Amino acid sequence: LRFGEALAAAHDIDQLLGVIVTTAVESTRATGGTIRSHSGEIARAGKPLTGGQTISVRLEVGGESFGTLALSGPRFEAEDRELVASLASHAVTALENARLHQIVQRQALLDVLTGMPNRRQCESALATELSQAQRSGTPLAFVLADIDHFKAVNDRHGHPAGDLVLREFSDILRELMRESDLAARWGGEEFALVLPDTDEQGATVLVERIRSMLEHRAITVDGYLLSVTASFGVAMYPQERTAARLIAAADEALYLAKRSGR
Ligand code: GH3
Ligand code: MG
Ligand code: MG
Repeated sequence: LRFGEALAAAHDIDQLLGVIVTTAVESTRATGGTIRSHSGEIARAGKPLTGGQTISVRLEVGGESFGTLALSGPRFEAEDRELVASLASHAVTALENARLHQIVQRQALLDVLTGMPNRRQCESALATELSQAQRSGTPLAFVLADIDHFKAVNDRHGHPAGDLVLREFSDILRELMRESDLAARWGGEEFALVLPDTDEQGATVLVERIRSMLEHRAITVDGYLLSVTASFGVAMYPQERTAARLIAAADEALYLAKRSGR
């Protein structure tokens, strides 16, 4: 019962592996046990014994392997082996649930089309980086980017061509951004950049590099070379002091860029 409750409570695979090996050792004649995967030992309980007997069970379900549970002790009975087999079958269900839970959590933060972080992840990164900037007294840039006349790409070349442009623009962002920067699909054909420890000049240089790379990118659809540009709005902390102010200021600057010719 306790094992079942512990399994149900945890959504974390490492935590589950710890519960599994500990319970297996405590409820059998084992003195110790480990769980090993191809990358080595991933959980341990008690004192594994050399020269005694072992029970070993693979923790796998539906082609997914979580490792091998190996128990050691001076002498095991048939009931120990039965118990371990039963524990293992409950364990793999919980492990598989945790794995699926992780996938769903990750998907909730990613844009499906481009694989980029989505707006939700971007807003949370902006909040985190903003408080970090406030603590450390460093500047922070927030950028909104919007592809110019994107509707025309869809209208002339079809929706899949529009999708291709969005993926190309995402690739450019991934190529040019630093490890500490975050680029996200803000929505539709709009992207956002969170640039920690970056001043206005640094942000402008980066954005200009992105702008130019897109303008010169050879994006072809059915042998036809598309010419795609984007407009950008840059907002700065500490000039703008809250996330909402940063977003509004970047949006205003973007609007200005659009109005003055894209
Ligand atoms: P502007 O230069 O003023 O930004 O004009 P625009 O045409 O880029 O802007 P508008 O807001 O009029 O059009 C945006 C278009 O983006 C309309 C919408 O159908 C399209 N769009 C949004 N999301 C996607 C997507 O995931 N794939 C494709 N192919 N198109 C999308
Ligand atoms: Mg737009
Ligand atoms: Mg647009």
